[in-house]
Amino acid sequence: MSTAQSGTVPAFPDTPAIEARGLTRSYGSVVALDSVDLTVGQGELVSLLGASGSGKSTLLRLIAGFDTPTGGGVWLHGQEVTGSSPAERDIGMVFQNYALFPHMTVSKNIAYGLRRRGMSGASVRERVAEMVERMKLDGLADRYPEELSGGQQQRVAIARALSYKPRVLLMDEPLGALDRRLKESLLAEIRRVHREFSTTIIYVTHDKEEALILSDRIALMDEGRVRACDTVANLYLHPSNEFVARFISNANILPVGAESSAFRVVSSGPDSISVEADGGMVHTLERGSARDADAGDFESSVRIAVRPEVLRLQSDPEPGMLSFQGTVGDTFFLGDLIEVSLETEHPGWPEPVLARVPRESAMGVARGDRVRLGFDPALASVV
Ligand code: ADP
Ligand code: MG
Repeated sequence: MSTAQSGTVPAFPDTPAIEARGLTRSYGSVVALDSVDLTVGQGELVSLLGASGSGKSTLLRLIAGFDTPTGGGVWLHGQEVTGSSPAERDIGMVFQNYALFPHMTVSKNIAYGLRRRGMSGASVRERVAEMVERMKLDGLADRYPEELSGGQQQRVAIARALSYKPRVLLMDEPLGALDRRLKESLLAEIRRVHREFSTTIIYVTHDKEEALILSDRIALMDEGRVRACDTVANLYLHPSNEFVARFISNANILPVGAESSAFRVVSSGPDSISVEADGGMVHTLERGSARDADAGDFESSVRIAVRPEVLRLQSDPEPGMLSFQGTVGDTFFLGDLIEVSLETEHPGWPEPVLARVPRESAMGVARGDRVRLGFDPALASVV
C-alpha cells in the first residue's frame, strides 16, 4: 500500500513559505518577468542571481506586493496574496540604498516599523534593544544615519526589517554599495541572522560569489525567466543547461560530434551519451536535466560542459580520459593553480579553451607549446 493511497501522510508536509506560479509582468511589449515558477521553503534562503535587467527586482516587487502581475500569482504560506497590499503580507524588505529615515536616530528607525504595526511603550523599547544587540549596534542607538558607516547603516536597515519578526525577508542587492571587506562581514551577519531567526529569505544579487556563499539554493535568472533553481553544488556539478554551466562554473562549452571535432557521438540516451575518442575508446557522459530532443532520438552532435578545473595536462592519451591537443596562448599564475589558455583547431570550440591545472604540472609550459589537455568524462556534463 502506497502512502498516497492511504491518504494519511501528505506528500509535502511543509507548506512553502513563498510560491510564485506562472508569474508574469509586462510593460507594453517588454516582458520583464516571463511565467516564473518559484517555490521557497520555510526557513530557506534562496538567491535570485542574474545580470542587470534579468528581472530579479521585478520578481521581488511582485512577491512583496509593490507591483501587480500581468499574469500568474503569488502564494505566501499557502494563502494566495496576489491582490493584497504589501502591509497585508508580513514581509520585511532591505534595499541597496539603505533607505533609513535621515532625521531619526538608529533606535527610532528600528522602532518605526513596530509602532506602525501598533506596538507601543515598553514592548517597543525591549524589541529595539534586542535588535540593537543582535545586529551588534551597541553604542550607536542614538546616532543619526549620517553618523554611521555604510556597513553600519545596512545593519540598521536589516535590524529595522527584522524588528517586527516578519516570516519573510526580501533583500534587493543589499550589499551592492559596500566595499569587498564590508560585504564579507555583512554576508556573515546575514547568515547568522538567517540561522538565529529562521526567517525565510530571498536575496537578490548579480554577484555570483555572494550567492554561492549565502544560499541554500540559487535561482539563476536570465531575460525574465528562471533558467535553473537548485543547490549550489548541483548547479556547479550537474548544470542542467549551457547557460547554467557558463554562469556558475565558467565551463568550456565544447561542441562534440561535428566531422572535424575531437570526439564522435556513438550512442545517445535520455540520461547519458557515449562518445568515441581517438584510438577507439568509448566514454559515457552524464546529461543535464534540460534536454531539447525527445528521449530516444539519436543526436550526432551535442555540447559538453567542461569546467577549467577538471582539465589536466597530459603527455599522451591516458586510459579513461578524453583528451585533445592545442597550442598554449597565455598562462596566468593563480597561486596553487595555473590558468592555461589553449587554442584548438576544433570548429565551434571556445577560443581559447581555459584550463586551471595544478602549478607543478604546468612548470615550463610556455606560449606556443603544443600540449594535450585531458579530463575524466565523469566530471563533464552534456548540456
Ligand atoms: P534586475 O533587477 O534583474 O536588474 P529588473 O527586474 O529591474 O531587472 O528589470 C527587468 C526588465 O524589466 C528590464 O528590461 C527593465 O528595463 C524592465 N523594467 C523594469 N521596470 C520597468 C518599468 N517600470 N517600465 C518599463 N520597463 C521596466
Ligand atoms: Mg534590480
